[in-house]
Amino acid sequence: MPSKQSRLSAKKVAVKRTEKTFKRPVDAKGDFLKASEYYGQNVFHFSTAPGIPESVKLELKEVSTLGSSLKKEHADLVAKAVTEWAVSKGATHFCHWFQPLTGSTAEKHDAFLDFENDLPIEKLSATQLVQGEPDASSFPNGGSRSTFEARGYTSWDLTSPMFLLEGPNGLTLCIPTAFVSYYGDALDIKTPLLRSITNLNELSTEFMNLIGLKDVKKVTVTCGAEQEYFLIDKGFYFARPDLVMTGRTLLGSLSHKNQQLDDHYFGRIPGRVLACMEEIDYELHKLGVPAKTRHNEVAPGQFELAQIFRDANVSADNNQLVMATIKDVAEKHDFIALLHEKPFAGVNGSGKHLNWSMATDTGLNLLEPGKEPHSNLRFLAVTAIVIEAVHRRSKLLRVAIASQGNDHRLGANEAPPSIMSVFTGSNLEGIFQAIKDGNTFSPTGDVTLDLGAHQLANLSMDNTDRNRTSPFAFTGNKFEFRAVGSTQSIGFPLSILNAAVAEVFSEAVEFLKEEIKTGSETEINTALMKLTKKLITKSWNIIFNGDGYSQEWLEEAQKRGLPNLKTTADALPTLLDSEQTKYLEETGIFKKNELEMRYNVLCERYITLREIEFSTLIGLIEKNVLPSSLAYKKKLGEVIKIQKDIGLESSVETEMYKKFNFAVETLYATLTTFKSMVANLPHEEDKRALEIANVVYPMSEKVATASNEIEDMIPNTLWELPTFYEMLFLR
Ligand code: ADP
Ligand code: MG
Repeated sequence: MPSKQSRLSAKKVAVKRTEKTFKRPVDAKGDFLKASEYYGQNVFHFSTAPGIPESVKLELKEVSTLGSSLKKEHADLVAKAVTEWAVSKGATHFCHWFQPLTGSTAEKHDAFLDFENDLPIEKLSATQLVQGEPDASSFPNGGSRSTFEARGYTSWDLTSPMFLLEGPNGLTLCIPTAFVSYYGDALDIKTPLLRSITNLNELSTEFMNLIGLKDVKKVTVTCGAEQEYFLIDKGFYFARPDLVMTGRTLLGSLSHKNQQLDDHYFGRIPGRVLACMEEIDYELHKLGVPAKTRHNEVAPGQFELAQIFRDANVSADNNQLVMATIKDVAEKHDFIALLHEKPFAGVNGSGKHLNWSMATDTGLNLLEPGKEPHSNLRFLAVTAIVIEAVHRRSKLLRVAIASQGNDHRLGANEAPPSIMSVFTGSNLEGIFQAIKDGNTFSPTGDVTLDLGAHQLANLSMDNTDRNRTSPFAFTGNKFEFRAVGSTQSIGFPLSILNAAVAEVFSEAVEFLKEEIKTGSETEINTALMKLTKKLITKSWNIIFNGDGYSQEWLEEAQKRGLPNLKTTADALPTLLDSEQTKYLEETGIFKKNELEMRYNVLCERYITLREIEFSTLIGLIEKNVLPSSLAYKKKLGEVIKIQKDIGLESSVETEMYKKFNFAVETLYATLTTFKSMVANLPHEEDKRALEIANVVYPMSEKVATASNEIEDMIPNTLWELPTFYEMLFLR
């Protein structure tokens, strides 16, 4: 437990720290290398690797894009080439790098060391490249197996490049893999994501072919994630047991200057932070992660990193590397990076914006409005498909972002609400309205979207009316899923979103097959218009361009019948609702038992994380707040006694004492009730989760409020925990 000594010494150290530099690589003349010269230096992809014949590269590409099976001799070639490359760069070990349902990544290292004729050599065999056998029983599996069936397999994902992880004294080759059980059940995030990408590719390619784009052979999901995080000085972090144990402060009084002035957003980046960001970018660029944008976020101490979009599976792997790199590099700069969705109550939380679209192998972005009527109709139809997908599967999308951390954000007055809606912007809404009502849209403004047949619609593509309060927003040429939590893997929300969109695509394909007989452009255009009208009429209720934070929206959404699953505990049972999950099961994106597994894992995780918060909070009150309070009472009491002894009145001191005493009594009583609630939670998991969400967690907030009252009254010298002010402003 911290003492006030550690708080004060942490403060002394924090204010004296200076920027840390790192060794940027230079050329022979001593000039800095350009980023393009070291970008991707720690990445190995068969498509660019020396030592692999061009013909083999082509075949491997087919394996990775079309899913044909991998030849043993090709795996041999890649294994040899990658070993040579990695070992020449100083790698000593390799590992299968995968994403179990813990939400983070897992790796088990093996040395390249092997023996040939009793002589030591470096080797990675084809089998070791292609398949691994980690002990599956130690990873969350939601009861899908008993522990004695401990076998699970990792298998090489050819679509995501291998990379070298730099350790203090050597490098490890990481092979991105999927992780499945002995029976082929997905025990990870990646497997369903790959399935959803394949499914969406098949259906949207068929769609494109049907509307006359016969040369389209493949549609990829594109994604770029924006990652928000806080940086606080390491010393303060270790003096706050709540941050160490739970990633967020469980109590704390808001400093007087927090973000009211909005002066942090896009402000000048503090020197120590900039030094840290520079190193983060450098490390990511070496790993082939296209880190692009860095800036201050809204809250003090909050920052953002955005990467350039790319194919969704690689992007999901990239985002894991982004999170890990931010954390690692931050420590080198004596910061701790907080990725939690809500590290400080009352200050903006952190999210992760998932920018999402689809692109054809012929170079078309399907969410980019075009220049002529035909491509505009295609754009509107695809956009309507996505909107209907969100409309129909809004509950599943809510589950996809559910976590105890994100519950603090969703619905708080700063993050998208837990009600799913789609922001289209007023122009696009106007166009859809006209299509729905069979009217001609009358354009205003300068940019026009030509829909043919005298339908000239205005679609202003500037970003001025973008809306920060929407959980799912159209932003010009992509959708932005904004309700995703900052700690979570983007793979799960991506899988659900892809699947939801694929479901509507599959119906659209059936519809077009009925409507298009000759394949003439007029016929196709009419069919696309009809499809758009049908979908947009169905999903009209999900479109909302107003203020998502407002009370009016809450009421309006209820009138519209949109689901409002407030907490994780409310959202999770959707995974067991076959009406909702039918499509996932039919397409095999998630099997029934895989959904149950996820329900169990997520539910257990929710309960465990909340329970850790509860016991940490109790510890903080009993070991820090109450002892400090008694010390203050003692001090006040002594003053009152001295005054009495010398015959002076002490009405002010007595008043202070009484007030403070009342606050302590309130805290104690609240804590007592809270402790008994924690001790008497129901055992059954679903009931326990709901009780935690609806009763016990709100009570923990009351404990925090009572403690914050005390923090506001107690002298600074007696308060032991680093304050919000110190953590957010001293660096
Ligand atoms: P904005 O500032 O409007 O959000 P940016 O161009 O800065 O737009 O992009 C924000 C994020 O969206 C970046 O990560 C970017 O790579 C990503 N992005 C841009 N276009 C697409 C697309 N077609 N598909 C997926 N992500 C995209
Ligand atoms: Mg953005």
